Amino acid sequence: MHVLVLNAGSSSLKFQLVDPETGARAAHGNVQGLGVGGRSHEEALREVLATLGDVRVDAVGHRVVHGGERFHDATLVDDEVIAAIEAQISLAPLHNPANLMGIRATRALLPGVPQVAVFDTAFHVRMPRRAKTYALDAELAAEHGLRRFGFHGTSFRYVAQLAADHLRAPLELLRIVALHLGNGASACAIEYGHSVETSMGMTPLEGLVMGSRAGDLDPGIVLRLARELGVDEAEALLNQRSGLAGLSGVSNDLRELQRLAAEGDDRARLAINVFAHRARKYVGAYAAVMGGVDAIVLTGGIGENSASMRRRILQRLELFGVRIDEDLNQDAKVGVEQPVFEISEDRARVRTLVVATNEELQIARDTAAVVRGAEEVRQPGPIPIAVSARHVHLNRAAMDVLFGPEAELTPMRPLSQPGQFAAEERVTLVGPRGRIERVRVLGPLRPRCQVEVSRTDEFLLGVDAPVRHSGHVQGSAPITLEGPAGTLHLDEGLICAWRHIHMHPTDAEAFGVKDGDEVEVAITGGVRDLVFGDVSVRVSEKFVLEMHIDTDEANAAELDTGAAGAMLEVYSTPKGGAVGRLEKKRWRG
Ligand code: AMP
Repeated sequence: MHVLVLNAGSSSLKFQLVDPETGARAAHGNVQGLGVGGRSHEEALREVLATLGDVRVDAVGHRVVHGGERFHDATLVDDEVIAAIEAQISLAPLHNPANLMGIRATRALLPGVPQVAVFDTAFHVRMPRRAKTYALDAELAAEHGLRRFGFHGTSFRYVAQLAADHLRAPLELLRIVALHLGNGASACAIEYGHSVETSMGMTPLEGLVMGSRAGDLDPGIVLRLARELGVDEAEALLNQRSGLAGLSGVSNDLRELQRLAAEGDDRARLAINVFAHRARKYVGAYAAVMGGVDAIVLTGGIGENSASMRRRILQRLELFGVRIDEDLNQDAKVGVEQPVFEISEDRARVRTLVVATNEELQIARDTAAVVRGAEEVRQPGPIPIAVSARHVHLNRAAMDVLFGPEAELTPMRPLSQPGQFAAEERVTLVGPRGRIERVRVLGPLRPRCQVEVSRTDEFLLGVDAPVRHSGHVQGSAPITLEGPAGTLHLDEGLICAWRHIHMHPTDAEAFGVKDGDEVEVAITGGVRDLVFGDVSVRVSEKFVLEMHIDTDEANAAELDTGAAGAMLEVYSTPKGGAVGRLEKKRWRG
């Protein structure tokens, strides 16, 4: 498979043709001089395609800088996705319009080739609220979308995985401080595989000292500059004439500054020291944010190549357990052949790694995964999820006892499954330990009584109910019901509902499943993504597509009714046997 990775800037189009499996690069280059007065992105792409000759492009992966709050993962590009990227333009006025030009050019010249957008911000989307919130007027911040987004996410994801592979530890067990130090620079606290803090903020201007960007500043300075120089001039100053370039007055290239510093140039020396000091400050802060650190990763042009800058940054971090072997630091060389080089001493508690980043390869891999996923998953769309609170189904005899002879249920609102309704009537559940009042009765009446509760409810009641499919109440747990007209003790009928999906036969066909199949359903895009296994498929002409889970399950994934899931995998389980299997897995308090 060949993925064409495009990084479209306002004046250039960088490209690489990558095999996502091997990482082999079949072609690469940078077409410059685009934009005002120059060629269009479409003309540039036509040139790129001409250089590729006969090689078939199977998919195109686009680097897109800003995905805003909307994009959590790499995403197949369609009209709706283009509109959504367009909607984020105000957040990345320099980048997103150019990225879109690349996408549109590809659509025009490679129609039918799947395109995937991979977002720099996506890795940071699920940062905790405390990390992404600026201490500003909350309403104003919400209205203007003022929050920390973070960038370099593709690079951080790539180097973190390489670091975990090198350390032979699952990423889910590591706390990593990653420093991407290039012309743009940022730090990221990666706690158990997730970005929990990063130094670039709403724009790529915040945080570390960069080639020509200032990084952290007293906002009072920004105000004063804007007042005295005008907003545009202040913006240009902070973006283009600050950082290493501004401090040194000479260059944004660290190599040049190191040469000048060696000759005694004081401004170059100060620039280098400010850069290192700021980076070290962030390492310490992020260790504190994560309550510790297992590995430090340095990447980007400076992180990968400058031993002296690495030494400056990493000195004085012994208190965390960082110990650098200076010989290894000097020797460190990373590249495509050997992307990871460890520079810590054997006895160091914190492992320090130099890692060669490869954002293009990560984009190619993400693109391939999305394209393959789209091919494999035949599903027509997300599965709506309804959260079932505790409820009761009654039969005629129970109705007579609880609500009086011949009493009828009073429909209050219809449920999504046709013919079913929530009734006005409520009962009290009474267990050996406690009571739960005002539990809703669902209609219509059924042949057998059934009471469905969550694990938390069982705890309150002091009962132990089996996980069962609806209707399978034989041998389930006892429970007492109190109604306005009387009390009814059920010897069986109390269950914890087996999570399930209702499907019409047309849905089942579209998803490629049948009644009784079990599937996995993934909940993504929230703060507590979860895969539900053992989800039973129920197919009937009477059903409409909907997954039902109980309140505990919904809480675990931080879901409300109205959320949706995607089917991951279908597996068949022998009926009957599965009940025992699931009961064994049950949590017992
Ligand atoms: P990047 O944006 O990741 O390509 O990083 C580019 C920056 O890395 C350049 O501007 C240089 O400052 C820095 N860099 C690259 N090679 C070296 C080196 N051997 N020593 C010091 N700095 C380097």
